[in-house]
Amino acid sequence: MSERLDCVVVGAGVVGLAVARALALAGREVTVLERADSFGTETSSRNSEVIHAGIYYPPGSLKARHCVAGKHKLYAYCEERGIPHRRIGKIIVATSDGQIARLEADKERAAANGVGDLEWLSADEVKAMEPAVRAVRGLVSPSTGIIDSHTYMLTLLGDLENAGGQAVYRSTVENGRITEDGVVLRVAGDDGAMTVDCALVVNSAGLGAQAVAGALEGFPAAHIPARHIAIGHYFTLSGKAPFNRLIYPVPEDGGLGVHVTLDLAGQAKFGPDVTWIDEVDYSFDERRKPRFVEAIRHYYPGLDPDRLQPGYTGIRPKIAGPGGAFGDFRIDGPADHGVPGVINLFGIESPGLTASLSIADRVAEIAAG
Ligand SMILES: Cc1cc2nc3c(=O)[nH]c(=O)nc-3n(C[C@H](O)[C@H](O)[C@H](O)COP(=O)(O)OP(=O)(O)OC[C@H]3O[C@@H](n4cnc5c(N)ncnc54)[C@H](O)[C@@H]3O)c2cc1C
Repeated sequence: MSERLDCVVVGAGVVGLAVARALALAGREVTVLERADSFGTETSSRNSEVIHAGIYYPPGSLKARHCVAGKHKLYAYCEERGIPHRRIGKIIVATSDGQIARLEADKERAAANGVGDLEWLSADEVKAMEPAVRAVRGLVSPSTGIIDSHTYMLTLLGDLENAGGQAVYRSTVENGRITEDGVVLRVAGDDGAMTVDCALVVNSAGLGAQAVAGALEGFPAAHIPARHIAIGHYFTLSGKAPFNRLIYPVPEDGGLGVHVTLDLAGQAKFGPDVTWIDEVDYSFDERRKPRFVEAIRHYYPGLDPDRLQPGYTGIRPKIAGPGGAFGDFRIDGPADHGVPGVINLFGIESPGLTASLSIADRVAEIAAG
């Protein structure tokens, strides 16, 4: 079977859904093809659900720009659409004097990114706000928040459908071919394979983005960055959380350090740590617990290890490997790779949830030429 479509978005994660909604609101006919049997089953449901302020990313980078713009759009969208969220705030803590320089750098970088609301806290002020936390200094970020990401994705999907678009599940994009007037995709579903002829493909396949781009015959391999992946584990804290805000240590190589986040029900979780891996495998390794206990006790000395329960894992789709090099988001359109009808999203790790509405607007802008 063969079908002619206008726009296909590959992947129904939070970014794919936001992109599909933006394209549909811009008047395009949009179909999302997703290999799983529902939306948001991969990275979009395996993250910290934090609305990031935009503190950590190099000024001018796509991560910095889309995080800050996305944060404002996301708060406005949540308020307008009644999506559960809270501007709960976070404290980044220095647990030794040697870490204070890192906080100073964070404050300066944040200001350069347009996040000018970070405030210093003394050790006593941290104690007064968060009695369970030990720190020598802190930086409070009032614009950091938390969101119910499932309701957010459901709302994006509702908007897409109201604008005439659709998401089709159990549909795996296997390969494709660049043509004169677009792309022909081969899609495997429950009833066998079909070809889909479309004017525009947005590759928002997350961990699968390189594989999708690499399977498009005629697409230049030089414009597909290497994929590097790093797993992160979360342990939940049973019982009442002893925190009122999110608590972050200073960042580590590849991640933001084993931090505390709270969900909207008030449950605390610790994570994610960072381990570079070769294959996507979400198995939980409980042997990590002693390392978590050690990392957490730097800022939460009263931790009772018996309250730490295995939670879940998530895998970061990175385009820079171990060693601390910064990997930015890639939103590659025809002006970047020379192929009309293809927009590739690579390296959409954190803060992709926060940035999703802003990334979506950028894709719609590229699609509009
Ligand atoms: C541990 C961790 C913590 C994070 N914490 C935060 C946070 O607190 N705040 C924040 O802003 N961001 C956070 N992020 C980042 C955020 O979760 C991601 O940027 C975002 O979820 C990416 O969404 P996506 O739609 O690009 O990818 P995904 O959610 O992975 O969606 C991609 C989809 O494509 C589908 N797919 C793949 N290949 C194919 C194919 N061939 N055919 C059809 N479908 C295909 C997959 O099944 C999947 O559903 C975190 C990420 C990780 C890993």
